[in-house]
Amino acid sequence: MRELADADRPADSRAVTPSADRAETATGADGGPCGSRILLVEDEPGIVDFVRRGFEAAGFAVETAGDGIEGERLALGGSFDAIVLDLMLPGRDGLEVLESVRRSQPGTPVIVLTARGEVEDRVAGLDAGAVDYLVKPFSLAELLARVRAQLRVVAQSSATTLRGAGIEANLLSRKVRRGGQTVQLSSTEFELLAYLLRHCGQVLSREQILSAVWGYEHDPATNVVDVYIGYLRRKLGRRDDPAPIFTVRAVGYRLGSGA
Ligand code: CA
Repeated sequence: MRELADADRPADSRAVTPSADRAETATGADGGPCGSRILLVEDEPGIVDFVRRGFEAAGFAVETAGDGIEGERLALGGSFDAIVLDLMLPGRDGLEVLESVRRSQPGTPVIVLTARGEVEDRVAGLDAGAVDYLVKPFSLAELLARVRAQLRVVAQSSATTLRGAGIEANLLSRKVRRGGQTVQLSSTEFELLAYLLRHCGQVLSREQILSAVWGYEHDPATNVVDVYIGYLRRKLGRRDDPAPIFTVRAVGYRLGSGA
């Protein structure tokens, strides 16, 4: 097997051309970005259970927190595409969690769940521009629709950003973010990530990746794809939150949620 050498690094001749007239997002069949990760912060087990099952059935990956402290920790440390947040929480008040999330991750939509009667008291604390809210009891279908609507707003807010699996890559600035943190990628790493994002959720063979990203006739034994997948995993992953790039045995790789 030929090892990767500097000579394998391609020239920057295949810059990604952003589409000018539409949002380029890796949109799954459910209408949300591929592998959308939802954080549900809610202390009522019955609601947690039914929301989690409903979202998973709709193709979302769901993490849950049963109190405000854990919810804030996960929200600030994780890479979520949207957060569903109860306001009345043990540990730390939902509005404080909300303010904290909005400070550190202003681009993440937060859909607030409130009990009837809390709305009038507390709606002043919600920023209507970026936050939606639902009054309990709510229907799962409506919550799903609200989350999808927020994900669409995020997708349309920038026609030059690819999003999927909690990762966003801006095609103009070539900035990459995951979990609220900027990730520095080389040019080739960026092209590889952009290709994975455009085909988020799909299994891609090494040959497909090689031809799309490197674009030249290649030694079929080259390990350049595996090497660069390794670079991406290291840069995008964290100790407690590995990069969502999965090896599909005997085939290749897939970007997406874990399931
Ligand atoms: Ca509650």
